[in-house]
Amino acid sequence: MSYDYDLFVIGGGSGGVRAARMAATTGARVALAEEYRFGGTCVIRGCVPKKLMVYGSSYAHEFDDAKAYGWSVDGVSFNWPTLRDNVQKEVSRLSAIYINLLDGAGVEHMHSRAVLEDANTVRLLSDNRTVSARIILVATGGWPYMPRIAGHENVITSNEIFTLDKLPESIAIVGGGYIAIEFAFILAGLGVDVTMIYRGDKLLRGFDEDLRDHLAQAAKDAGIKTILERTITRIDEEAGRKTLIFGEGGQMQADQVLYATGRIPLTANMGLDRAGVELGNIGEIIVDEYSRSNVPSIYALGDVTNRVNLTPVAIDEAMCFVDTVFKNTPRPVDHSYIPTAVFSQPEIGTVGMTEAEAREKHGGIDIYKSSFRPMKYTLPMRNEKMLMKLVVEAASGRVLGCHLMGPDAAEMAQLLAIPMRMGATKADFDATMALHPTAAEELVTMRQKWTPPST
Ligand code: NDP
Repeated sequence: MSYDYDLFVIGGGSGGVRAARMAATTGARVALAEEYRFGGTCVIRGCVPKKLMVYGSSYAHEFDDAKAYGWSVDGVSFNWPTLRDNVQKEVSRLSAIYINLLDGAGVEHMHSRAVLEDANTVRLLSDNRTVSARIILVATGGWPYMPRIAGHENVITSNEIFTLDKLPESIAIVGGGYIAIEFAFILAGLGVDVTMIYRGDKLLRGFDEDLRDHLAQAAKDAGIKTILERTITRIDEEAGRKTLIFGEGGQMQADQVLYATGRIPLTANMGLDRAGVELGNIGEIIVDEYSRSNVPSIYALGDVTNRVNLTPVAIDEAMCFVDTVFKNTPRPVDHSYIPTAVFSQPEIGTVGMTEAEAREKHGGIDIYKSSFRPMKYTLPMRNEKMLMKLVVEAASGRVLGCHLMGPDAAEMAQLLAIPMRMGATKADFDATMALHPTAAEELVTMRQKWTPPST
């Protein structure tokens, strides 16, 4: 049986583009279809523009601190269109690089929506033609999930936040996860009056409890108001002002409402049913450890599989896919010890198990933790504290989890993931010479086991 292509990739995000390029370097005939802009969520309306906006927002604190170091910063002001447009320029530059990378690798790319006709056939809706491929890879990513409450059309999501005409004076942010938290701090730094509304009793469910407590304090310090254990049943709009009605009674008003209530895989109306591809509860493509679906010729990776929805994970899944299918060296995806960050201000960096998970899975656990004022904040007398916490298996001394919040916590988490994957013990940390004066030296100098306060 001969096909038009060895591989047809649907979706030009980080995972899809990496898989297409790497497969093409093996001599495979590869094509890729993208219906929107090349680069995917991360480049176009996710990690990249978000991090640039975190930098933009953080100047508010820097200007404050600078005074204690002798700088006169009177008269500084912020201009949203400048930040917004500069960020978009960078996004366009990166998107163009993605296209160049595909060209350089000899991948044929089409600007078209693509749907499946069967297990080896794709229809390109731009010109309604079909093409065949030995392997089809679905890497279509995800989309903001918004509960269908009355007035849901009166809100925005992370798709729209980056390109607002003007910043609202006040915003209600619904959700207590990554996106809600990151934008709460970005917008608060830019002078917006921010209220977070979360259905749970503490932000950032699933993270270590100490981090969650530290985050709650940081949000308070940043002037972010938090309304907990509230659900929203309706959102009205009148003269540009939104009113949020709470299911538990009461209401609040804001100029804008941002919903950050999770993301769902983009699999609707793609013909996956025609091809017989099995989907999970929220529409994710169910795959095995090699990213293969129940249909042998169809693979999927990245957010569309709803495993660990992070860009570097999608990229690694792509590398494993190419090793397995095009290099004859099958390699399963290793989802252990994935470092992750939440770019609140200060930021969170974390690797491995939370204290609660470790206690459940390993029993005897030792905890080391430290909270201190980073040196940079001593002159400005900023009260902000850095948190460092190590979760250690008592019997083996292995470091199972590391949880950080403070300046450069994300950078530290990335580096800590290496020894932790290698099985480093607390004794290995202790045997490592400290680098003074840094915040990270605390990680190798914590000697005192933490004991819960006696009741
Ligand atoms: P998250 O899953 O992180 O958070 C979703 C939040 O919305 C949770 O607090 C959840 O509450 C709440 N929620 C869910 N459904 C409802 C509902 N029906 N009504 C009210 N609240 C609801 O998703 P995000 O949208 O913040 O981010 C999506 C994904 O994108 C992340 O999971 C992450 O994988 C990725 N991401 C990663 C970033 C990074 O690496 N720095 C940054 C941004 C996104 P509850 O806790 O009760 O479930």
